[in-house]
Formats: sequence, structure tokens, C-alpha cells
Amino acid sequence: MRDQSGGPRVLLRRLRELMAEPLEPQERLDRIVRQIASNMVAEVCSVYVLRADGVLELYATEGLNKEAVHLSQLKMGQGLVGTIAASAQPLNLSDAQSHPAFRYLPETGEEIYHSFLGVPILRGGRSLGVLVVQNKASRNYRDDELEALETTAMVIAEMIATGDLKKITKPGLELDLTRSITIDGDSYNDGIGLGYVVLHEPRIVVTNLLNDDAEKEIRRLAEALGSLRISIDDMLSRREVSMEGEHREVLETYRMFAHDQGWVRKLEEAIRNGLTAEAAVEKVQSDTKARMIRLTDPYLRERMHDFEDLANRLLRMLTGYTGRTLAEGLPADAIIFARAMGAAELLDYPRTNVRGLVLEEGAVTSHVVIVARAMGIPVVGQAAGVVALAENGDAVIVDGEEGHIHLRPLSDLQRAYEEKVRFRARRQEQFRALRAVEPVTKDGQRIHLLMNAGLLVDLPQLSESGAEGIGLFRTELQFMIASTMPKADEQESFYRSVIKQSGSRPVTFRTLDIGGDKVVPYFRGHEEENPALGWRAIRLSLDRPGLLRTQLRAMLRAAADRELKLMVPMVTEVQEIVRVRDILRKEVQHLSRFGHGLPRKLQVGAMLEVPALLWQLDELMEAVDFVSVGSNDLFQFAMAVDRGNARVSDRFDPLGRSFLRILRDIVRAGQRTGTPLTLCGELAGKPLSAMALLGLGFRSISMSPASIGPVKAMLLALDVGALSKVMEDALNDTQAVEPMRHLLEHFAHSHNIPL
Ligand code: PEP
Ligand code: MG
Repeated sequence: MRDQSGGPRVLLRRLRELMAEPLEPQERLDRIVRQIASNMVAEVCSVYVLRADGVLELYATEGLNKEAVHLSQLKMGQGLVGTIAASAQPLNLSDAQSHPAFRYLPETGEEIYHSFLGVPILRGGRSLGVLVVQNKASRNYRDDELEALETTAMVIAEMIATGDLKKITKPGLELDLTRSITIDGDSYNDGIGLGYVVLHEPRIVVTNLLNDDAEKEIRRLAEALGSLRISIDDMLSRREVSMEGEHREVLETYRMFAHDQGWVRKLEEAIRNGLTAEAAVEKVQSDTKARMIRLTDPYLRERMHDFEDLANRLLRMLTGYTGRTLAEGLPADAIIFARAMGAAELLDYPRTNVRGLVLEEGAVTSHVVIVARAMGIPVVGQAAGVVALAENGDAVIVDGEEGHIHLRPLSDLQRAYEEKVRFRARRQEQFRALRAVEPVTKDGQRIHLLMNAGLLVDLPQLSESGAEGIGLFRTELQFMIASTMPKADEQESFYRSVIKQSGSRPVTFRTLDIGGDKVVPYFRGHEEENPALGWRAIRLSLDRPGLLRTQLRAMLRAAADRELKLMVPMVTEVQEIVRVRDILRKEVQHLSRFGHGLPRKLQVGAMLEVPALLWQLDELMEAVDFVSVGSNDLFQFAMAVDRGNARVSDRFDPLGRSFLRILRDIVRAGQRTGTPLTLCGELAGKPLSAMALLGLGFRSISMSPASIGPVKAMLLALDVGALSKVMEDALNDTQAVEPMRHLLEHFAHSHNIPL
């Protein structure tokens, strides 16, 4: 067949000429199918395009009845064409009618054609339509014919993607590429973001599809592959591999792919069929992705991501793409889409432009989410497959309240959300008005509302939110976003800035809480089976006293002539506090010996996160100046549920009797020993749970700055004495069946307390 027709190269050359001619889209498509049919010696060639309503519509045909064009339709998954689109796999049949999925469309007159070859029209692994050739004689198409048809389908994918076919789409209908869709994920940070998609890993658009000289392209490919392999070997041989933020295992997988002969063969074949080297990479990547997209095995899916990263690197090398600078071309209201992302990468975006973050992976407590929360932007995570469905510049709504992403939303949805945003803004306005109002309950109890922070970007929120101080400063964030260990003087000047910017408001610094899920790239311990229960926080600090000493010294120096409050995370035994105090004492002596200024007052606290401390409460409180309950970890350990695992983390209610009784015991111990007590986990940030904490007797709570307003509005309307009685009775009642959450909601509702 190739001999008579000139083969795929000739076909692609003709197609290129057709693409360049000033033709109306229907005319262009008609000529394309005619050209393919004649080149492939097929009696039929047809193009079906996927519409937004999930229907594949016949857009052009050579050989079938012309009247069927724009009339014949098949649903996704229906008939041979629908099967190809749904599976994103080709079908090569010598007798189409005997295939179980075959569906007869009388208007086309296709019953006389026996053999059938259909390929998906793919872009980024997504089916945009189907391209088919048919012959009367019963035959199997050869592999090179299949390859040629797939290559041709890329050209049509380009036509669809550039919007060329819009003009010939029936009014009221849309093509799938522009379909509006809603993807459900998990809500990681509240808020509504309206804006435009910015793909964090930019998709390189290959515009130069067809080559003039296959040998030259193969040489270009070989050169790029060579540099790619060298760059991977180079990364692997560097000792500080982890500084790249990439794990050795991933790099090993890259290396395996880069040397994979199957991959290279496929690339060369696509070039021999007429594609440029970059178009060949894109084609093979799209085919592979289409095959792998339905994988459910998380390990294989991960490998797919690795493969994609590698193919993207190769594309960048071939196209000379140097990457855009972040500020350039960034819309004023950017919603960042990423598969996964490091905290530092998010901070690289100009803050004023970023209106939301969408992640395919992630967890509520992942670093990037903590940073996003500090930036006050809505975040939706665990949104599977969302990156492939989005194009740069697509309109999008991120609903961080419900965990939805609305891609290319219809106008009525857009309007509904604009109204929601206005409503939320009005509420924010009301909260802002409360900033200067003293947080005193209706029955006269003064409450201390503090905020959590960890980065300099958080600090302006102190005065904006009206927080009284910082109840938890997560010092590990500075370490997590740096590529190398912050030096002593860097730590000191960082703490100095925090103290300076906080003015007269007190700051409670927490010593390094790394390990577990808080990974510091340049400081890696051994792989652990149970990292949450592993070598982390104060355990790690005590085993690496140099690290702790440096940090304590930096804090002491930064707080010269001021008050310094510091607390220790993940304390399990009182003895750990004793050891920290020992180290601290030596540091104080050292500094005073060298004539350095010292803090005016020094207070040492413990975070209560490990249940074992519940049976050492009196000794603990004796040993410290204050206690801060880390309810995120305390709940995780008390209920034995991984806080980062969405499957189990919501299984038990922190407002259930058991956890509330634990908290009540802590409050009682604080009262008994006269020890100042605060709580700084997520429980403090929701008005209902904050109300429960006040009812238990907490008088100081620390939360994300955005929560201060809603929590203050709640407490101003609260008679905390009345609530305490109700809660005390309910917690003492061992026969009660009504969930505590209902009881609290009912209390709030019947007392007009805004939640
Ligand atoms: C906690 O565990 O509740 C806490 C405040 O610490 P982190 O969330 O940083 O572990
Ligand atoms: Mg904790």
C-alpha cells in the first residue's frame, strides 16, 4: 500500500499544505479525509468529534453518505467509534459487523464495508474524537498503517484544540474540549476563588508538527536524549540529590525510562512517519498516558507521573523552552493547578495574583497547604485527573468551602458564585469591624484569641485579624522551605524579624517539629514504617542537640531585652522537658558569659500531643510555665487515626464524648496547678468547636488568622457559664445517647450564637 500511495510522509506533507491553505473549516476537514482515504487506499475515511454532551458526531466523511455528516451520532462507549473514544485505544478489525460493540447506523450506508481501522484523536491523553478508515474487502490493517493513522490523528487533534471547528459546530452545542465540568476533591482551605487556570508545570504546546527531513529529526532526538541521560546521571551522582527536591528512587525511574529502547523505537517510528522530534515525543506521551490514565494501582500511577515528567524534560530540550518567569503573563487572578507542589514553589508566585490552589495530591497538613492557608487562599486537594482536564487560561472556580472545582463554568453558576463571594466579603467586613472589640463573653469572661503562624508572610495578619499575639509559631516552616539548613545567623535574624513585626504582641515559638510528615529535604532520617510515631520533633532534637542548641541560642539572642516564650512539641515524658531546660540553661550561661543581652523573661512550655502525658499531668505542669494542647496530634494519637489520611481522619468526632473528656481533664489539671493553658490545633478555629473549648474551660486558644473574626463573633454572643453547665451534665451522663455535637449545635441555635 505504501508503495502505491507514497506512504505516510507524503500524506503528512499534503496535510501540511491543506492546513496552510485559507480554507473554511468544513472544506479543510473534507479535503483532509479525502486525502487520507486516497493515501491509505481506503474506500472510507471519517472523522467523529466528541461534543460536550458526550456524543461523538460525524464531522466529515469520504465514502459514507454525505447526508450523514453532522447527523450521525454515537454516545461515548457506544458502537465501535464510541468504544475507541471511551477506551482511547485503536480498533483494527477485518470484519467490523461481527464485533459485539458494532452498531449499525442506516443513514451512513456503511454495511458494505467489512474491514475497519479506528484510532482515538488524542490530546494530553484525552480523547477528542475518532478517526476511521474502512474497506470493503475483509483485511487486517498493518502496524505501519495504524501508526500512520495515529500520526494523522494528531493533526486533527491540533485543529480541534485550536478551536478551528467551532464555526461548524451546531448552535447551542459545544465540543468536549470546552465542556464545563465539576471535579470533586477535598477542601483543604476555606474560601472561594474565581479566576483563570495557571498550570504549574506548563504544558509545552508543539506547533511544529511535521518534518522535512526525518534523518535530521532523528539526529536531533538522539542529541536531546543524550543530554537528558547525562543530566539524570549528573543529578544522581551529585551527593545532594535531595536538594533538587527529587528522591533518588524517582531519578532511578527516570534513568530507566530514558534508556528504554521500546520508548526510543516508538519515537523514531513517529519521526519516520513524518513528525518532528517534539511532535513525536508528544504523540508517544499522549498514547502512553491514554493507556495508563485508567490505572488504579497507585504505584503504577506514580510511575506514569515520572514518565510524564521525563517526557516533559525531553520536550523542553527539543523546543528550547526555558520556562516563563512566574510574574510574566500571570493573570491578575490566577488559580494554580498542580499535581503536587512544594511550599517554596507556591511562595515563588507573586502573592497578589494568586486566588486559589488546586492539587491532584496533597493532604490537609502538607506543607504547601499550610503555606496556602497562611496566604489566605482557598485550596482543594485530592482532585484526581484535574490537571489533564484543564488548559492554561480556562475560567475556573475553586470552592474551598465544599471542595469543588468548576472548570469552564456556565454563566449561571458563575453568577451564583459571584453572589457567594459578595456575601462572604460582607461577612469579612463585619468581622473586620470586630477587630478592635475586646473578646469578652456575654457573661463577662475575657478570652484570649491568638493566631498560628510560621512565615513572615503571616505577620501582617496579626493586626488585620485583631489577634492578641501568636500562640503557635511553627519554626519548622523556615526549614522546610529552604533548600539548605538555615544557619544560626539566618535563624536569629528570622526570629528577630518575627519579634519586631509582632510589636508588643507576644509570640510563642515552638522548637523544631520536623520528622513525621514534615520533611526537610536536606535532613533525612531513615525510612520509617510509622513516621507519625517515629523519630520526630523533640525526640529528634534531643538526639541532635547541636540542632536544638543552635535554635535555642538564635531565639535567646533574637529576644534580647524582650520576653521569650518557647514550647516543645511532642513531649512524651516530663524528663524531656527537664533535658531541654538543661540545654537552655547552658545556652543562657554561655551568652551571658560573652556579654550578650538576654531575654527579660523566659517561659518554657510543653505541647500536649501525646496521650501518655495525660497520666503525668501534675508533674508536667509542675515542670513547665505553660501548656499548649496540640489537638491535631492529640486527637490523632488518642483515636489512632492518621490525620493525613482522609479515609480515617474524619471517622471519629473530636467533639465526641471521649475526646471532650480528655480535654476536660487537661483543663482541670491546669486549674488545679494554676498553669496557663492554651489550645492551638485546628479545633480552635471553627466557631462550634471553639465554643465547646470555652465551655470546657479554655480561656486562651490559637487558630489560623482567618478564624479569629468568626470565633470572636461567636463568643461575644455566648453565655459561657450556661454552656459549661450543660456540657458538664452531658459529659457526666454515662447513659446519654445524644451526640455531643448535636447538643452543642442545639445550644448555639437556641441561644442565637452565630456559627
Ligand atoms: C497540633 O498537633 O495540634 C499542632 C498544633 O501542631 P501541628 O499541627 O503543627 O502538628
Ligand atoms: Mg502537632
